[in-house]
Order: sequence, then structure tokens, then C-alpha cells
Amino acid sequence: MEIKVGIPGGLLYYRYDTFINTFFDELEIDTVYSLETTKKILDMGVNCCVNEACLPMKIFHGHALNLKNQCDFLFIPRIMRCEKNEFICPKFCGLPEMVMSGIKRYDNVISYPIKMNRPYDLINHFIKIGKSLNVKEYKTISAFQKAVKKHNEKKKGIHDIGYKHNVFLGGHPYNIYDSYANMNLIDKLHSYGIGVITEECVDYKDKEEETKGFIKKPYWVFFKNNYGAGKYLADHGQIDGIVYISSFSCGIDSISVEILKNNVDHFPFLVIKVDEHTGEAGIDTRIEAFADMLERRRLH
Ligand code: SF4
Repeated sequence: MEIKVGIPGGLLYYRYDTFINTFFDELEIDTVYSLETTKKILDMGVNCCVNEACLPMKIFHGHALNLKNQCDFLFIPRIMRCEKNEFICPKFCGLPEMVMSGIKRYDNVISYPIKMNRPYDLINHFIKIGKSLNVKEYKTISAFQKAVKKHNEKKKGIHDIGYKHNVFLGGHPYNIYDSYANMNLIDKLHSYGIGVITEECVDYKDKEEETKGFIKKPYWVFFKNNYGAGKYLADHGQIDGIVYISSFSCGIDSISVEILKNNVDHFPFLVIKVDEHTGEAGIDTRIEAFADMLERRRLH
């Protein structure tokens, strides 16, 4: 009998989609995806996730619940660390337990811890996944290597050109690239002649350099990426403003936004906070006002 693996969209699938898709394709494992966020997925997530969780967590719960009865194994990565000496939001470390308890599925969940900063740990992690799916080790190693190669080759981020204004679009990848969660924010900005640049388009070293002035090294990877990129682009005159899409109740965002705001003085800065109750009309009005402000600054 063929094993089927369910892959929920949301969260860091937006960053590692190429890797995940290639890995399971190369293992020749049958997969079923839940990728596009819809109202139904959001409602399912809201109903099975704890109230206090942020919107992206609720959306991920919705995707997982959507796949619950369609697969033999559910892939819920437990990401512990993305880069050396940096940490990720603790919700990622407890994600499998949160989801298992929320959707009431406790068996056949692939949830081994992933530490991406250690290549040896990383490959072992995927060998374990291969074993649990009855795949031979040599085949898993080959699938892993092909997936890494494709991931590295993939063009990452957005760097618009040809727009009247350019802004840095800050936030977590799952808020920036999930057009249901952000209510088509990027299209809305484009419609006002505003192009966006995301953190992936700023060199890693430049982002690191920008965070060196703090008394203590910031240890959140999302903070480094967003603060470093926004500050670098502002300091080098490459943007006219900053738009930051943030989740209500996100501790990392609350710090990142304030520190970035304080360090790019007198710069147009729009913060859009989203949760399941956010109304689209309010966002439209704020984008319109922000576009007016950019235009006034351009003219004067
Ligand atoms: S970093 Fe913020 S938005 Fe992301 S999962 Fe953690 S609390 Fe939610």
C-alpha cells in the first residue's frame, strides 16, 4: 500500500516550499498538500487552535486539520533554529504538540526537531524521516542533496522595479506571501504605484552589519532579517518608506517594529496588524493615506 504524506501550507512552508516539494518528490512518496489559505481554512484553524495564538498559527492549524483524514503521515516540522547563534519564535518549537492537540491527531506525525545551522543534524533529521517512510538511506540522502540544490537555486524575495515609489515590505514570510492573510497587500500597494522590496533581496552581510550597533547581539532571526534589511535600504536611499505587516500578539514583531521605527527617523512607516477580525476597508484606507504621504514627500 502506498504511503501518503500530508503537507500543510502556511508558516515557513513559504520559505522552504522548494526544498520540501523536491525532497518528497525525490523520495517518490505520494503527497497531498493544503496550500492556499481560504476563509474555510482560516475558520477551521480558528476553531481548533488556542485563542491566544497569532493568525499564522491559526492558519497553519486550519491547513493541518484540512489534511487530517487525507494522509497516513502529517508533516509538521519542529524548527528549532534557522541560523547559527540565532533563535526562532518558540511557537515553532512546540508546533507539533500544539497542532496535534488542536486537531486531535496524535499518531503518524513527522515532527523531529530541525536545527538548520548544523548540516550534520539537518541531514540526519531527513534520514529519520526517510526511515519512518521506509525509504532506503542512500535514496533519502540523494533526495536531500537535490532539494538543497533546488532551494539554493530558487530566486527568493520580491524586488519590484519601475514603480513611482519603493518601500521595504517587512514582516514574516507567512504574512508577506499569504495573500489571503494579508488581504492582497502587495497588489494593493502596486495599484498605488508602490513597488516593494523584501528582506531576501538584501545581502546577508549587509543585514548583519546593520545589527552590529546594539549593546547585545539580537538573537531572533526574524528580527535580524527585518531590522537589518529595512535599515540598510533606508540608509542607502533605496526606498521611500516602510510597510510592515505584523500579526497581533507577536512578541518579536512588537520589538522589531519599534526598534526599526526609532532608527529610521522621519521616514514614512506604515504598520499593518492582522488577525482574524481585521477588516479590509480599514487596511485600504490606511494604504491610501500612506500613498498620499509618499506622493506629498516626493513633490516637496
Ligand atoms: S514570530 Fe510572531 S507571527 Fe510568527 S509564529 Fe511567532 S508569534 Fe506568530
